[in-house]
Order: sequence, then structure tokens, then C-alpha cells
Amino acid sequence: MYDSDPAARPDFWGKTRKTAMTTTFADLGLSEPILQALIELGYEEPTPVQAQAIALLLAGSDLIAQAQTGTGKTAAFALPIIERLAPGARAGRAPQALVMTPTRELAVQVAEAFHTYGRHRGVVALPVYGGQPIERQLGALKRGVDVVVGTPGRLLDHMRRGTLDLSALRTVILDEADEMFAMGFVEDIGSILDATPAERQTALFSATMPGPVARLASAYLREPARVTVGVAGGSVPQIRQICYEVGGRDKFEALARVLDYEQPTSAIVFCRTKLEVDSLGDRLVGRAYPAETLHGDLSQVQRDRVMQRFRAGQAEILVATDVAARGLDVEQISHVINYDIPHDPENYVHRIGRTGRAGRTGCAITLVTPRERRGLQNIARATG
Ligand code: AMP
Repeated sequence: MYDSDPAARPDFWGKTRKTAMTTTFADLGLSEPILQALIELGYEEPTPVQAQAIALLLAGSDLIAQAQTGTGKTAAFALPIIERLAPGARAGRAPQALVMTPTRELAVQVAEAFHTYGRHRGVVALPVYGGQPIERQLGALKRGVDVVVGTPGRLLDHMRRGTLDLSALRTVILDEADEMFAMGFVEDIGSILDATPAERQTALFSATMPGPVARLASAYLREPARVTVGVAGGSVPQIRQICYEVGGRDKFEALARVLDYEQPTSAIVFCRTKLEVDSLGDRLVGRAYPAETLHGDLSQVQRDRVMQRFRAGQAEILVATDVAARGLDVEQISHVINYDIPHDPENYVHRIGRTGRAGRTGCAITLVTPRERRGLQNIARATG
């Protein structure tokens, strides 16, 4: 049974106190306004790339991070940038950070992430990309923004017109660098970097590190720290693994169909955040599915009650975050459903390892939206 040392005995979550030293966002050195935004978003703990990259970037280091979409890479660079923004009036001020992205969709998405994470610091991030009337971008730049996020081509346009002042930049991020190379932006990126202050901090995020990306890094980064998101080597037990591609808005309907078709005797449905857990739990109960929810905000008594009902089979569906489900030891889970794809392959193996215990066959079903497809490919590659 248990180790005789009480500190090594698993608590409800299966974590022992000896091993329960997971990093929190606060541990990483982020301050209250940012921590508050993360709480509101329902993020429970940093993803692996965040746990590694945030402290390094806060310390001012240059960085090469090998991480793909879905790993939480945006927050990994956005949070330290927001934390390090110099306080003071923004009006008319030149941007302090620049993010280059391969596509306008990503530029918009990243700029939105800055707004969301920086909402209690009033961060203003402007996406600039081709296709949008340049006048609109000019007005916003004149009023003053903290962060500019743009595609290399449009950034160069602004530089040539003299409408983008790079002199106050403290940090430059190359996001999805391999994609930018694939799209032929190499020279543009070099020209932009050449026009930024030499003492800037530079970080490069890329899913893969082909030669040209590595060469750019060695030309423009100063003694960069390196971060690679762990790829799980562990093999996956006897588990039937299925993946359905669904449109983002159809996800709930797809889940309902899967539940109706599979008739799980006991299933864990994983979501990324507490908020998603609550909202999905409500929707399932609203459709008369016997679902319970589990996440880090529940009291011990509440958790115990949920688990008792789940173990006893009164609730067939447990909607949970990764953190809440960690160390949960329930025999006979017939299905693991990834409502959101996990942040990294290791996480995936962890999640689906909850089914197929003790030689039983289990079933893992993953719902992916087109946006999550790359993350899935990455998991498939890493787990074989
Ligand atoms: P990214 O890899 O930056 O595209 O992020 C993928 C998704 O993960 C986004 O929808 C984020 O909102 C979400 N996300 C990022 N960090 C966390 C976290 N620590 N906990 C939960 N969700 C997160």
C-alpha cells in the first residue's frame, strides 16, 4: 500500500506532498494584475512551455523555443512582455514590443491575447497586416500602442512610410518562425530586425528548427536560452484511439453524438480551463447527461462528493481539467474524451492513460477543430 512516510502518501489528487511542487504562475514572477486575468480565464497552472519560458524572458534572456500551436506558446511570450512594459502614459508613445507572425489570422489572435492577458493593465496591442486599410493602422499607431503584432510585409510597409517607430522596442518575438520562412519572409525579417535597437531582447518560437531558422537565430539572438516542449516517449497501452474533426461551433453537438453512440459506462471529458469545465458540465446536465464537474476551485468536500458519485456510477461522465484529474485513480474508466486537445503529447498520454487500466481495453476520443489540427499531428508524431 502506501509508503510509511506520511509526506509521501498521495492526497486526494494522487499527488504526494514530496512531488506536489508544481510551478504556479505566481512562482514564475508574474504580478497581481496578470495573475488576476489568468484566474478569470480559468488557467490553473502554466503549460510546460510557459513554465520554462516565462521566467527566462522576465529575466531578460534571449530565447529559442521549440513549441507548436496548442502548447500555450502565445502566453509564454505575451505574459512576460506585459509584465515588463514600462509604466506611464501611452499617448503617442512608440511600441515597446513587436511580434512578427506569418499570417494575419495569427496576428489578430496574438493581439487579442495581449488584450486579454493585459486587461488589468490596460495593454493596447495593434495587429497590422496586409489587406486592412493602412489608414486605420496609422491612426492607432499615432495614438500610441504598447505592442505591435504584424506580418513582416506590412511591418516593412509601415517602416518605409515612417509610420512605425521601432526606437523604443525592448522585446521582439518571431512567432512560428518556420512558417515565416516557408512563406518566404526571410529577408523581410532580417530587414526589420536590423532596424530595431541592438540591445533589444529577442525570442524565436518555432514548431521545427530547420537550418535557415537556426541560422537566423544565431545571427540575431544573443546567447539564447533554449526551451523544448517535452515530447513523451512513453508508449500508449491497449487503447482504441479515435479522432473526429469538427467545426469549433459544432463541438458540443459532436460530443453529444459521441456519448450517444459510444454509451460509455464511465467517461472523463477533458477541457483546458475551469470555465470550460463549468460551462460544458452545465450544457451536458441541461441535455440530461449524467455529468459531474471537477476542477481546482472545488472544496475537498465537494470533490469527495463528486468522486463518490462518479465511482458509484451515479454520474457516468466526469468533466475535468488536467490538474483536477491528475492522480485520480478510478478503475474501469471506459472512455477518455478530449473535448479540447491537450497542450502537449505528454499530457495526451497522461489523459488517455486513465482508461485501459489493468489490461482492460479503453477508448480515447479526441475532438479537433481545424485550428487544432497541427497540435494533433504533433501528438500523433510524438506518440507514434
Ligand atoms: P497557443 O499555443 O498559444 O495557441 O494556446 C493554445 C490555447 O491554450 C489557447 O486557447 C489558450 O487560451 C490556451 N491556454 C494557454 N495557456 C493555458 C494554460 N496555462 N491553461 C489553460 N489553457 C491555456
